[in-house]
Amino acid sequence: MVATTDIAPGDLIFKEQAVSIGPFHDTPPICLTCLRRVSGRFLCNECGVPMCSSRCSEAAAHRQLECKVFAGQRGKNKVEISDFKANNPFYQSIAALRCLLLKGKDESGWAAMQSMVDHNSDREREDPEHWKICQHNIVRYLVELCGLPYTKEEVNHVIGLMEVNAFETNLTADWKKKATDEDEEENGPVERREEKTENSEETLTTGGMVRERDGWGRGVFPLLAMLNHSCASNARYISLADGWMECRATVVISSQSPSFF
Ligand SMILES: [Zn+2]
Ligand SMILES: [Zn+2]
Repeated sequence: MVATTDIAPGDLIFKEQAVSIGPFHDTPPICLTCLRRVSGRFLCNECGVPMCSSRCSEAAAHRQLECKVFAGQRGKNKVEISDFKANNPFYQSIAALRCLLLKGKDESGWAAMQSMVDHNSDREREDPEHWKICQHNIVRYLVELCGLPYTKEEVNHVIGLMEVNAFETNLTADWKKKATDEDEEENGPVERREEKTENSEETLTTGGMVRERDGWGRGVFPLLAMLNHSCASNARYISLADGWMECRATVVISSQSPSFF
């Protein structure tokens, strides 16, 4: 990425929201919208997956993505979770599935992911155990058990691109909600007023800051992934809430110079 104008230290180079956000590879049961831990007391009435509240189960981040897939699963393949303390392999498939669901729906997001590296041959050689787990719990689960219309290569590509390129991100709300939605805040998606959570009576003021109680996951950021990695960095990224990242200059970057982390 090359600067087209002179940039001063602290200047914003770009701001980007993740094209896809999902849980970490290993996680105990969490709500698929806010990514916070769940107890199993509430299940989505469409797909039966544990969520934290009706608000989260109806949010676009879940309802427009994997909810439809799991609602269509019947019999032995229906999602049923009983242990809410231990890591559950079901969650390993979610981040990959959300990337795959961009195909045919978000052409620019899907195209950006196709250009991201997955280092799959290195990953398979360097950690064959982890590779085997991914084949069983993600590739086989999505393609063979759920019968989804993706090739094994497509599933392995999204698994790899996340392992190579994903950044940690925190969520305070439904990250899929667009700024154009009726009740979206006037100041844009990262500035928010006080909001009441359904998990607690507590009223929270976030102001776009990361809170300890937020849910955490990993996001795919195609622009950030395009930045070259360098020992002599001239830019840094700052994680904002709800899958937004800022990239700012750390030194003077002259026009026509490349920007690096
Ligand atoms: Zn939730
Ligand atoms: Zn659901």
